[in-house]
Amino acid sequence: MILPRTRRGSLLAALVAFVPFAPVEADAADSTRRTLALGDARIDVVTRSLDGRGAAGVAAAFVSVHDDENTAILAADTVLPGHGGRLTELRHSGDREIGFRLGGRDHRIDPNRIFTPAGRRATLEALGVWSQPADDAVAAFADALLGAMGIDEADVVVALHNNTPDRYTVASYAHGGPLAADAADLHLRPHGDPDDFFFVTDRRLFDALAAKGHSVVLQHEATVADDGSLSVLCGRLGIPYVNVEAEHGHQAEQEAMLRDVVEVLESVRPKRIMAVATVPPAGCELVDLSTIDPTFVIDARYATTDNVTGRRLVPSGTIFLERSAAERLARVQASLRHHGLRLKVFDGYRPLAVQRALWRVKPDARYVADPAKGSRHNRGSAVDVTLVDGAGHELAMPSAFDEFGERSHLEFTDATPEALEHRELLQKVMRAEGFMPMPTEWWHFDAPGWRAFPVMDANPYQAALFPDGDTTEQDPP
Ligand SMILES: [Zn+2]
Repeated sequence: MILPRTRRGSLLAALVAFVPFAPVEADAADSTRRTLALGDARIDVVTRSLDGRGAAGVAAAFVSVHDDENTAILAADTVLPGHGGRLTELRHSGDREIGFRLGGRDHRIDPNRIFTPAGRRATLEALGVWSQPADDAVAAFADALLGAMGIDEADVVVALHNNTPDRYTVASYAHGGPLAADAADLHLRPHGDPDDFFFVTDRRLFDALAAKGHSVVLQHEATVADDGSLSVLCGRLGIPYVNVEAEHGHQAEQEAMLRDVVEVLESVRPKRIMAVATVPPAGCELVDLSTIDPTFVIDARYATTDNVTGRRLVPSGTIFLERSAAERLARVQASLRHHGLRLKVFDGYRPLAVQRALWRVKPDARYVADPAKGSRHNRGSAVDVTLVDGAGHELAMPSAFDEFGERSHLEFTDATPEALEHRELLQKVMRAEGFMPMPTEWWHFDAPGWRAFPVMDANPYQAALFPDGDTTEQDPP
């Protein structure tokens, strides 16, 4: 079916361009600069490769997210080159916060409070006003920043911060202090300046830095406040994290702290452990998509034998999604409704056990995510969808769903004009609500902010997975 010209035109005209990414430019020999848009603000994300082999093979992502924290950058420039890893820094206004205008409103964020949904809402509200478009734009910005940092491959994240004397100090975490609930353990340097300290998520890093005589706070994963900071994200995802916190102007102190971090990384050799949640953690809720909007057409292929494995992998045709992604998808559905179209949903949240079953049949990372790394479907943050007309019939597309090959690629053009137009329309309506496409599968989209949710092996169905038996039963090792 080709959409009538007028109807399609009005729909496309109604869509807001949503372009958080910009081309990567080479800055100097060892550095790249991406200019990210956030409303009318332009933020340069500058990434420098720190030549060297890295601390005993540890992939370290150093990052400075506050543009006014210049002491940290000076210390990093002195200490880090030659130690390996990558240093990422934000450059915009020279201020700590980022202000931007979007949808006729002024917004403001702390760029270290944007990595979870709760944090994004809180920082937008605390510094101005929350709106859905602003939340979407900040989520996409956070994704791009984390990607530029290399967080998906990092064994450790080292954040560099500076603080103002006596406002945010290690004493905040002491018994009775305002942040005591965030701390599982605390080591205080005798007679040390309380503004110079480490905040870590990893017990071994805590012990090693404490043994060097520093003040160190260990994050309490169960009770830490979800403020959307990088430490909360890293704790949730199982990525060891170190914050090197020093007072503005304490360059010699911060250099000494960084030298000790480098030594500790070499001795402790932290490794990321993919955190797999068997129940959704706080701030993450898997919902039945039909309870958010009953008008989706559901065609859960993994509940049928009509999928790449030829077996039923899940016990019922219910599609689950993380709540914020489900609500986002409902907004796409609403935008299509006026035009007589709807979404058909093939898959959403996928338990890690199902991912493993798919991988055994199709171990090709272009189409199926390696379960050792996890899929965005495993985080409840990816959907596989197509368009249907008012009668529920699928619109023609360049390939079938889950057809693995070039016809499923977004760059494939040797299809009928109708199919190409439908694919383009699906891309536009999904992108208009912030969903991010995948180059090799026209049906697959990631919700912005997917990194805030861990890979899950939770079973939200009221019955056991694999009603036809697990694929391992057919393929003994
Ligand atoms: Zn998918």
